[in-house]
Amino acid sequence: MDWNAIGKEAVQLLSEYVQIDTTNPPGNEHRATAFISRILEKEGIPCQVFESAPGRSNLYTCLKGDGTRRPVILLSHSDVVPVDRTYWSVDPFGGVIKDGYIWGRGTLDMKNLGIAELMVFLTLHRSKFPLKRDVILINTADEEAGGMMGAGWFTENKQELVRDAEFLLNESGKGRMENGKAIYSIDITEKTPCWLRLISRGEPGHGSRPKPHSSINRLLRALHAILNYNPPVKVTEPVETYFKGISHLQKGRRRQQFANIRAAVKDPKFLAELHHSSQYAPILRNTISITMLQGSPKINIIPQTATAELDCRLLPEEDPGKFVQELRKVIGDDGIEIETILSFSNTASPFDSPFVDAVRQVVSTYHSPVEVIPNILSGFTDSHFFRELGVQCYGFMPFLLPDDELRGIHGNDERISVENMSRGPKMLYEIMEILCG
Ligand SMILES: [Zn+2]
Repeated sequence: MDWNAIGKEAVQLLSEYVQIDTTNPPGNEHRATAFISRILEKEGIPCQVFESAPGRSNLYTCLKGDGTRRPVILLSHSDVVPVDRTYWSVDPFGGVIKDGYIWGRGTLDMKNLGIAELMVFLTLHRSKFPLKRDVILINTADEEAGGMMGAGWFTENKQELVRDAEFLLNESGKGRMENGKAIYSIDITEKTPCWLRLISRGEPGHGSRPKPHSSINRLLRALHAILNYNPPVKVTEPVETYFKGISHLQKGRRRQQFANIRAAVKDPKFLAELHHSSQYAPILRNTISITMLQGSPKINIIPQTATAELDCRLLPEEDPGKFVQELRKVIGDDGIEIETILSFSNTASPFDSPFVDAVRQVVSTYHSPVEVIPNILSGFTDSHFFRELGVQCYGFMPFLLPDDELRGIHGNDERISVENMSRGPKMLYEIMEILCG
């Protein structure tokens, strides 16, 4: 295997992929699937492209294994978030390669992993690797807007193509260096959005004649109750796995406390410490952010309707219905309507898994010392669509990304080092060799 040449090919392909503008909205992901299909076609690999809406394309292809084991899916999304060109030092869609980096929107989220997965897929095909399971490559649209035109559409309409899969690799987890130690995190689950709209109604009128029970006043009372409400701390199983997994990276007393988080959170002092950390606080409880408010369009009108939108994020394995019920009790006003804008349930994938073992085995050939830790993502990706089908999904990118480079995700001057992009496919290939051999 000429990994040097494969690395160069990956860098070149990422530069070309970045030049395809798939800003969502509107997406135009058919440009991306056309690009990937052309590459697959050149290698003699057939693929299927499904359109969920005009211009919104999803690609599926599969390398057949001997069926000893269940399939593994390599998932990526082709859409990217918009850019503000005034803050970029290069053309965000120029595919610029300079100073040891490939620059452009999507180089971290997630055209990088998309290309690494594609290279692994091509290399498995070229080398005629004797696969013990099918390797499925899926490239979807619309992840950045919730995935309903992409992974959501795919798992709904093409379920038969993926239902049997055992594992799925997706974006997000990654490596970093800390005091000379390489630490790779693997996302085993995510917090799930439960986006709600509170609607308050009341008798409209003139602002010169106040109404104590106006729609606005009732809404404010409801929001006040929500502000005073602290969702309870919940150490669910994935939360426990997470803290245990990162416990040996802690110093002093914390090491013990993290290893035994269920008992440790009973200590109010320790709990208060965790709540001051933006990293740990969201992992311990459901959260509520009031983000949108709407009342009257005019200062002297008491409106009939007032609304507020809440960005709530639930812990994995929480029941959104129960959460809404709890909120209803907190508000204590039956006149306030609660409408769900977006919500889904979510499970966690086990950290004790052949997938994680394979990652651990491979990264330890690259670094010493090295640690592989579980992570719970506070945002969300397309993985939940597949977890709902029973597929074990893992967020893992075979790249070492320092904090200053991570700032480019959804930000400015997004870039990935040529070194990362050259090495990533090899690392991922070795993981697949273990999983599929
Ligand atoms: Zn992404």
